[in-house]
Amino acid sequence: MRPRRRGVDLIRLGTVYGGWWVPPDEIGFGKLAYCAGAGEDISFDLALHERGCRVVTFDPTPRAIEHVRTHAPSDERFQFCPVGWWDGDAELRFWAPRDPSHVSHSIVNLQKTDEFFVGAVKPVCALMKELGDESVDLIKMDIEGAEYRVIRSLLGSGPRPRVLCVEFDQPQPIWRTASAVMRLRAAGYSLVKVERWNYTFVNRSVRRNAVPVAVPIKSRSDVRRNVVALTFDDGPAEWTVPILDTLREARIRATFFVVGDAIAGREATLRRASAEGHEIGNHGLRHRPLDTLVRDEVRAELDETGRRVRATIGREPTVFRPPYFRYNATVLEAAAECGFSRVINASVIPDDWINESADEISKDVLAATRRGSIIDLHDGRPPHDAPHAHGKSRDDRWPTVGAVKTIVPALLERGFEFVTVSELLAL
Ligand SMILES: [Zn+2]
Repeated sequence: MRPRRRGVDLIRLGTVYGGWWVPPDEIGFGKLAYCAGAGEDISFDLALHERGCRVVTFDPTPRAIEHVRTHAPSDERFQFCPVGWWDGDAELRFWAPRDPSHVSHSIVNLQKTDEFFVGAVKPVCALMKELGDESVDLIKMDIEGAEYRVIRSLLGSGPRPRVLCVEFDQPQPIWRTASAVMRLRAAGYSLVKVERWNYTFVNRSVRRNAVPVAVPIKSRSDVRRNVVALTFDDGPAEWTVPILDTLREARIRATFFVVGDAIAGREATLRRASAEGHEIGNHGLRHRPLDTLVRDEVRAELDETGRRVRATIGREPTVFRPPYFRYNATVLEAAAECGFSRVINASVIPDDWINESADEISKDVLAATRRGSIIDLHDGRPPHDAPHAHGKSRDDRWPTVGAVKTIVPALLERGFEFVTVSELLAL
């Protein structure tokens, strides 16, 4: 995971051990910083305070409480809150470090010790309400393994700061950190600095008081390059394989929005699609209309599919398309909570799943495709769909397989470049 700096100016604040890289233009008078995990080094918190920020420091551990009480500046721009961060309201056991000279107690019993104390933990959004703050500009967390849950909670219920400094506590399996970084990137955060396990992210698109919801997108007609994104839904299935053959022959890449329940038995197909450079997107677990579900059910659909995709190809999707393109406010919020900043629809929808011929499908696609179009086709059938369940829906996808053989060369002939959905969004 290499940081992409792209001209971001950074300065380092704090001591060698407790310091962080941050963009200087994002700190100063009028800005609010929340710093979780004080330990016995609040040099970063103090440096922010010195530059004019209002700072709230959080740490429930007894030695940190003692340290902050003796080192904190006594003015109204500095507050201390002896509460830990978590994704819910609770009293949790904080496990002692094995080496008694270390300060850091951990919610995750990393060092397998028997000693603990009980401390209060709360989600950041709840603490923000209690403190009467409407938004936070910078968040720093060094919270000993709790960061994964807290990041998820920040992406879901907020707050989303413009600057996010996270220490990814070790040891952890590398995919866990990678998956958290991917979630943050999908939510618009750029990784601008990595120093040991201290990661600095910046999201310049965050406006104060922004409510996190995913934004629906149908196409990118504003792009300057002559690009299109070819997408396939409802696989992996038997029809995925001949489609992959056609794409490989033309040396182009597409995006496959897969259904979690369709993966079992077709792992090799999914692995092949990923290995050949195609993007794998999330299309829910059971192909349910998500706008009929409650928020937790929507999240479970997305999370479980993400988990199954990761178990198969080693990484989680960063793009999501709801079945039947159906969504409501709950779906948009739940998608944001799961780390998706967009809900991917399409601008070219030839209804290839209805009883159409290959010829009709390709004619529809070629007539409607423009620069920046997202084309929606189907390489599979939803796994819980009984044959003829929807009357109009046909039982196979051979017409689509045939249509792709016409569509791809025709669009290449017209000078289109094929990109994945993520690439299209990044243009
Ligand atoms: Zn579908």
